Amino acid sequence: MGFSKWVLLLLIPCVLIPRSCLCSSRPGLTPEELAQIPVDFLNLAQKPEIVDYMVSIRRRIHEYPELGFEEFETSKLVRSELDRMGIQYKHPLAVTGVVGYIGTGKPPFVAIRADMDALAMEESVEWEHKSKVPGKMHACGHDGHVAMLLGAAKLLQGHRDELQGTVVLVFQPAEEGGGGAKKMIDDGALENVNAIFGLHLSVKFPIGAVATRPGPIMAACGFFEAAISGKGGHAAIPQHTIDPIVAASNVIISLQHLISREADPLDSQVVTVAKIEGGGAFNVIPDSVTIGGTFRAFSMDNLIQLKQRIEEVIMRQASVQRCNATVSFSVKPFYPVTANDKALHEHFKNVAQDMLGPHKILGMEPLMGSEDFSFYTEVIPGYFYYVGMKDESLGKMEAGHSPHYRLNEDALPYGAALHAALATRYILENQQNQQKLDAAKESSHDEL
Ligand SMILES: [Zn+2]
Ligand SMILES: [Zn+2]
Repeated sequence: MGFSKWVLLLLIPCVLIPRSCLCSSRPGLTPEELAQIPVDFLNLAQKPEIVDYMVSIRRRIHEYPELGFEEFETSKLVRSELDRMGIQYKHPLAVTGVVGYIGTGKPPFVAIRADMDALAMEESVEWEHKSKVPGKMHACGHDGHVAMLLGAAKLLQGHRDELQGTVVLVFQPAEEGGGGAKKMIDDGALENVNAIFGLHLSVKFPIGAVATRPGPIMAACGFFEAAISGKGGHAAIPQHTIDPIVAASNVIISLQHLISREADPLDSQVVTVAKIEGGGAFNVIPDSVTIGGTFRAFSMDNLIQLKQRIEEVIMRQASVQRCNATVSFSVKPFYPVTANDKALHEHFKNVAQDMLGPHKILGMEPLMGSEDFSFYTEVIPGYFYYVGMKDESLGKMEAGHSPHYRLNEDALPYGAALHAALATRYILENQQNQQKLDAAKESSHDEL
């Protein structure tokens, strides 16, 4: 039975169809049947009941944003939805994380991931479902990510008898600087998992399109904070002071030379001092100045090299001005490079092209931003891509982390369908590969 016919059958009330006739063990699908799967998932995801479901989930989460490792209500909502769908899950992982399982509970295992955390900022968009929590806002689209993964769960659970393998639903906390993915891995989220897919909504790319690239897609990053101490005093009598403001100024300028003079110009790196605190009066030299910032690179070797040089420059440059300095790199966890597996890139291209058409698969340059999805790609083959939501008719849409950020809910079905199709095709194709391998083994035994 073709996949599309099977999907149509599922839409008929299940009382009319005994479950046993939907789970016949079929031989491998033809290329045409495989190509139809993404199309069918998109059609299903665009049905009003699925769209309305995802929109309502997304709006509920948007109204009550929660910061990293505090996603207690969001996690509860995810679990109650999984309960309602009859999907088994593990909880808690990484404080608020949830991992659901759809399918046979046997290999191949393929994971699809959503992040759940919001940002510590005030929403400036006036609309019916504006954040009801002062100082917190879903301004990176993670509310939509949760809604899309639940939407995908609904689509996949309807097809569970066809899955000769297991889809692992990863709902993780604390993507925004907390390294929630790392804690999820430590708590066993990737147990048995062969591959993982993750997505991010983006206003840069048009609705109905996706953007991605093989290899490194987002940079590794680290953070630093330094205290530069001197001796405060009257601003008009500098000879009686040790001025940490002049020392900090020289430190900041010298840090920029790490990029302009020491880094390979063809290998992108960034050092930014984004925070500076010191002094509070026009006529007082303060005792100390604190600076902080971030550094980025496309290899861990370069990141470690930058870390070492940042420390040396701060310590030594401060001492030129007779100041002392301390440097800390533990303000936030380091994130590795997010690197897309080359074989999964081919898989993604095939599935997305079947669903959206070849012109909707856009290439992109790597970004200096970082993602904690990188922790997954560090340990197993992983793949990260962007789902476009730009629509000229909605006017100018601000990028993530803006207080004016608006999420185009028309993009939700694309994300849900891509999650479901990538996972389903991965299982089918890997299962077919396994069958071929098994058959080859058997025939070689025959020859013996
Ligand atoms: Zn973000
Ligand atoms: Zn984000």
